[in-house]
Amino acid sequence: MTTSRRALLAWYRKRGRADLPWRQERSPYRTLVSEVMLQQTQVDRVVPKFEAFMRRFPTLRALATANAGDVLREWKGLGYNARALRLHATAVAVVRDHGGIIPRNRVALRALPGVGSYTAAAIRAFAYGLDDVPVDVNIGRLVRRLGRKAVKAIGRSGYTIASALMDLGAQICTARTPQCAACPLLRTCESGPIRTSPRRNGKARSPFKQSSRYARGRIIDLLRDLPPGKRISLLDLRRGLRAVLPQRSAAEIGRLVEGLRREGLLDVQDGDLALP
Ligand code: SF4
Repeated sequence: MTTSRRALLAWYRKRGRADLPWRQERSPYRTLVSEVMLQQTQVDRVVPKFEAFMRRFPTLRALATANAGDVLREWKGLGYNARALRLHATAVAVVRDHGGIIPRNRVALRALPGVGSYTAAAIRAFAYGLDDVPVDVNIGRLVRRLGRKAVKAIGRSGYTIASALMDLGAQICTARTPQCAACPLLRTCESGPIRTSPRRNGKARSPFKQSSRYARGRIIDLLRDLPPGKRISLLDLRRGLRAVLPQRSAAEIGRLVEGLRREGLLDVQDGDLALP
C-alpha cells in the first residue's frame, strides 16, 4: 500500500463521516436514496429526512408501489421536488426491468430514469465496492488540485477510498479555504499548500426568497398539506400563498403552476390542483 493511500485511510478513520446512516447500514437501495437526496441538499439536512424516508419506504419495492404524491409528501424539506419523482420512477423501473435488484453494471444503471454518470458511479462504489469514483463537485476539485500522479498513488477506488475522497473534498480541500496543513495528501499534492486570501466583496446575491425555486417549493408545500384526496382551486391556492409569497402576481403563480404541471409535480383536474 502506498504512503498516500495509507495516509488517506488513516485520516478517514479519524475524521471521516462513517456515522452517516447510509454508511452505517449499506445497501444499494439506501445508497440510491441517499445519493439522490444529496444531489442538491446539504448532508446535515439530508440525515433526518433520509431516516424518515427509510421508515416510510423501507424497501425499493415499497417505494415502487407507492403513490407518486406520497413520495412527494415525504420529500418535504429537501427541495428540488422533481428528484422525488425521478427516484420513484427509478424504483418502478428497477422492479419492472431488473426484478427489484439495482444493477451493478454501468450501462444498465445509466439506462434507469434519473440515474446519471455520478449516481451510477456512486452506486457502483458505495453499494457494490467496485473500482469507480463518483466525481461530484468536491471530488472534482480535489482531483484537479492533487494532479494525476498523486491520484494514481492513491490506487484502486472502492467503498472506503471513494468515501474518504468525498469527505476530504468536503471538509479539507474546500473551494475557498483549503486546509492544506491538515491534509493527509499534502506531500504528494501538486497544488498544495494553497495560500488563501480574505474573501473579497463579491456581487450581492439575489435573495433566495425571490427565486422561482423558493416559490415552486411553497406551492408544493401547500399541496402537501391538503387532506388526502382533497384538491384546491387556483384562486384558493393564490390566497393560501399570500402570506409566504406576498410579492408574486396572479400571472406569475399561474406560470409556476403550469411549469410544475408540465414536470408532473402536480395534477390539474377541472381546474383544481393536487399532488399527482
Ligand atoms: S494539499 Fe491542499 S490543495 Fe492539495 S489536496 Fe490537500 S487540501 Fe487540497
